[in-house]
Amino acid sequence: MFTRNERLLKHTLMDEFMAAAIAEAEQGLREGGIPIGSVLVRNGQIIGRGHNQRVQRGSPILHAEIDCLANAGRIGRYEDTVLYSTLMPCYLCAGAVVQFGIKKVIAGESQTFPGAREFMEAHGVEVIDLNLEQCQQLMRDFITQHPQLWFEDIGQLTPEGE
Ligand SMILES: [Zn+2]
Repeated sequence: MFTRNERLLKHTLMDEFMAAAIAEAEQGLREGGIPIGSVLVRNGQIIGRGHNQRVQRGSPILHAEIDCLANAGRIGRYEDTVLYSTLMPCYLCAGAVVQFGIKKVIAGESQTFPGAREFMEAHGVEVIDLNLEQCQQLMRDFITQHPQLWFEDIGQLTPEGE
């Protein structure tokens, strides 16, 4: 159990970085894209940030986490980094997490999409799901307005007309 102060501190630290990931998601939304954002943190500092670029860059693989890692550049070691994402990372992004040796992932939610939590945990990654209403709402609103874009993003586009 955490003391109240520890819980507050933990909460405050998480909020700062998750808030930055949410800001990235909102930026993506303003660009007409899918509202998923991500930041990479080392020693309490953001060293990379990004958001889903499917629409903006016409790329099926530039998910928020991949865009974030690409923007962070060649940082060398990843074992002391924490990856934040507004949505639980999918297998593509979880693969990058495992491949690069990121040890901790903090997700805004996993209600919209369960992602690859078990895959990451099976490879020794600590995964925390903040289960934030704000992140769920972003995706709910988006999927209601653009269902086809979302299903395209997760590789589950149904045949035309369905
Ligand atoms: Zn992904």
